[in-house]
Amino acid sequence: MSNKINLTKIDVKFNNKLTNRKDTIGIVLHHLDANNAGIKEVHQWHLKQGWEGIGYHFIVRFNGVIEWSRGIDTFGIHTLNNNHNTIGIAFEGKYEELKSMPDEQFKSGVELIKYVKSHYHKNLTVKQHKDYRATACPGRYFPFTKMLEEVNNKNNNTNVNQTINQMINNEIHKVVKGDTLYSLSKMYNITVKDLQIINDKGSSTNIKIGDKLRVSLDNEKIYKGLKIGLDNSPLYASSDAKTKTRNITGGFWIWNDKIVNERIRITNSLSNVGKANQITGWINVNSIK
Ligand SMILES: [Zn+2]
Repeated sequence: MSNKINLTKIDVKFNNKLTNRKDTIGIVLHHLDANNAGIKEVHQWHLKQGWEGIGYHFIVRFNGVIEWSRGIDTFGIHTLNNNHNTIGIAFEGKYEELKSMPDEQFKSGVELIKYVKSHYHKNLTVKQHKDYRATACPGRYFPFTKMLEEVNNKNNNTNVNQTINQMINNEIHKVVKGDTLYSLSKMYNITVKDLQIINDKGSSTNIKIGDKLRVSLDNEKIYKGLKIGLDNSPLYASSDAKTKTRNITGGFWIWNDKIVNERIRITNSLSNVGKANQITGWINVNSIK
């Protein structure tokens, strides 16, 4: 069995700040009771419920791709009375009708469950939604027994610990064998260029096992290489100049992310980011919308 997890972050906007669980006792398996849906679609459905957004931690697609957007440690919304201590994994499909699960989806489900167990502790329970309450979910044809057998199969030697170690919740990825900036860009839905910029790599694509890379722009309003639009904003010759040199308008880039006296340096093209003598000047941080 393959032990490469095919994981893709889907960026969605939650209505509330997500909070973390204090406790984790188990994994709850669901089906979507729908075809052709992933995080994007389900996020919309759940917003319409008045929720903060997608309630599951993961959705395993028919093709084996595992989508996620809420951090693994956050409170999910998927199993009434147990959201505070469980992780919700949903499978694309209607397993009340669909009699067999595609191989890719099954394998990804197994790998993901093994990963989550190893991330917390081996004794994490794996149950179906219907074990918690009166529901058909995840459907009568969901291959639960077979999946559990495969999860517990000791001969099925997997490297899940290495696969996505610095999980998902935070914005740091620890590089493992096989990672490339390109594969990370797909995994975290960020461009290679942005990965290079926020990790101070210039145009280099070299990474090595054990490197800790920043992989998200989400939590940073201002970062080196960020493109900004200015509209008649005061420009200064230094961080402590008393008077502005002029006002500027148009597209600029943050030269580096050091803020001094609430001011930051900008430059006039992406290729000048971080380069000596290529500073247009200083602007007030609050000029950045
Ligand atoms: Zn369910």
